[in-house]
Amino acid sequence: MLEASRRWRRDGRSIGLVPTMGALHAGHMRLVETARAENDVVVVSHFVNPLQFGPNEDLDRYPRDWERDDRMLREAEVDAIYRPTAATMYPPEASTRVRVGGVTDALEGAARPGHFEGVATVVTKLLAAVQPDRAYFGQKDAQQVAAVKRLASDLDLGVEIRVVPTVREQDGLAMSSRNAYLSPEERRAATAISGALREAAGAFASGERDPHRLRALISGRLGLEPLVSPEYVELVDAATFQKPGTLAVVAARIGKTRLIDNHDLSKPFPG
Ligand code: AMP
Repeated sequence: MLEASRRWRRDGRSIGLVPTMGALHAGHMRLVETARAENDVVVVSHFVNPLQFGPNEDLDRYPRDWERDDRMLREAEVDAIYRPTAATMYPPEASTRVRVGGVTDALEGAARPGHFEGVATVVTKLLAAVQPDRAYFGQKDAQQVAAVKRLASDLDLGVEIRVVPTVREQDGLAMSSRNAYLSPEERRAATAISGALREAAGAFASGERDPHRLRALISGRLGLEPLVSPEYVELVDAATFQKPGTLAVVAARIGKTRLIDNHDLSKPFPG
């Protein structure tokens, strides 16, 4: 990969990288389209990173459909798909891990020990292999965005981190590869998450500023849906992930599926 990147750079072409784990949906494709519009060359990496999955998480059953992914990326006129193997990414002798402090401590970091170390390590390696001018991440994974921005800045990686708004289904559910796990009944219940964020944004727009009340509003709305078990609901600052702030972040379990979503309550909820 590095060889091709060096060639593109020599020819004065700008490079955009979109890191993904495959099982592509319209959210990923929005990142690709944005990268396409802003760069001469677009590289999509496709790597289901074992390092960012916990021992009891869904690494083995994570959805995989390379042929469909390739077709979608060809149609989007992507220049290269970087698809390393786990053996080349993490040979047995490799012992370096990248850890971003602070922003990764709470919420997803607390719920998924080792997750952000896996993310920071793989993102560092992908950036080293592709050497892009810009790298694209989805607001859907808000804490990941905060961590990657911190990483790029703290290590002077010289890459611009571009953030793309969350793409949602018609009924508001944030698109996610994990939505494929939901039964029809669970899929219906899952709209409670975006519904709660929408209501809280409405309350904020009507003047409600008390983070405790906004948080209670979201929890209360989720509590009405018996299939949804909230893991956390918080209002944090989007850059530091410290309380208080206007970014409402939610994690919830629906059956065996764990979903996350977020919305900056100071902005209107889309749709
Ligand atoms: P993943 O394949 O789940 O690791 O996601 C790859 C990238 O796509 C990450 O930067 C995600 O934040 C982003 N992404 C996932 N879902 C969405 C969505 N619904 N809208 C926008 N970006 C998304």
